[in-house]
Amino acid sequence: MTTHPDTSVRDHDPAVAALVELARPARAISAFTGAGISTESGIPDYRGPGGVWERNAPPTLSDFRMNPATRRQYWTERRERYPSLRDTQPNAGHLALARLQSAGRLSHVITQNIDGLHQKAGSDPERTIELHGTAHQVRCLDCGASWPADQIQSRLEFEPLPACELCGGMLRAATVLFGQAMPEDALRRAFAVARSSDLMLVVGSSLIVQPAARLPEIAVANGAQLAIVNNEPTPIDSLADVVVRFSAGAVLSALADALLDG
Ligand code: NAD
Ligand code: ZN
Repeated sequence: MTTHPDTSVRDHDPAVAALVELARPARAISAFTGAGISTESGIPDYRGPGGVWERNAPPTLSDFRMNPATRRQYWTERRERYPSLRDTQPNAGHLALARLQSAGRLSHVITQNIDGLHQKAGSDPERTIELHGTAHQVRCLDCGASWPADQIQSRLEFEPLPACELCGGMLRAATVLFGQAMPEDALRRAFAVARSSDLMLVVGSSLIVQPAARLPEIAVANGAQLAIVNNEPTPIDSLADVVVRFSAGAVLSALADALLDG
């Protein structure tokens, strides 16, 4: 994660002003967010110096399925770490997107994040598309049944390796693992949103994880304008109409203030 502690959003005024001008006339704005929108809530991104809360040894699906020791270690770590994720609060960036959505200025939020912070900030769950699943549900790998994470969390006190109550199958957070396909329905909806947007706002994503990173390209190919708010350059900055290289919270708050108050 790159930060700019000595500058304020005002030093980036021309880029923020250009973003506001781009967004003002747009009728179908979508946001596509990555780990960078949640760093200001204290959750490290992948590229930052710290690890992700559940990253210590991200298992592959086959490793998880084949190896009871992997599963035991996964649940031991999750028992310790889930409470802090559950208690994490949305930041100014999530709140600004939720404000824009409730005011009818933002159609959908498509996110690569699993932290649930968009919904916690007030984004409409029906119009928040989670491409990589959610850490707040636990799902059976065998029958597909799922439960709120808190329900399973309390079972961990006396059942260190919990099993599905319905079929005895293996349980895991409902997030997408390395080597696992993205949820088809979410991906299909995200592509449809990308095709129908007239402005896509990418926030806090390095845009190197495929196929999710193709979404902005699809939006542009279908005539959308593109704005990227990210601390670091991305591989598709040259496709963008506006690039703002600054903290998401400050930029999105400035955008929401400008669009909603003036
Ligand atoms: P990434 O970690 O690859 O990239 C994050 C980008 O955001 C970086 O380019 C960084 O410079 C930028 N950034 C960090 N803080 C920022 C801020 N405050 N303002 C503006 N920009 C900021 O993230 P990715 O593209 O989402 O890919 C990582 C993968 O890891 C995703 O698949 C995601 O599912 C997963 N992940 C999720 C979480 C989460 O749920 N919060 C956290 C870490 C990783
Ligand atoms: Zn089951």
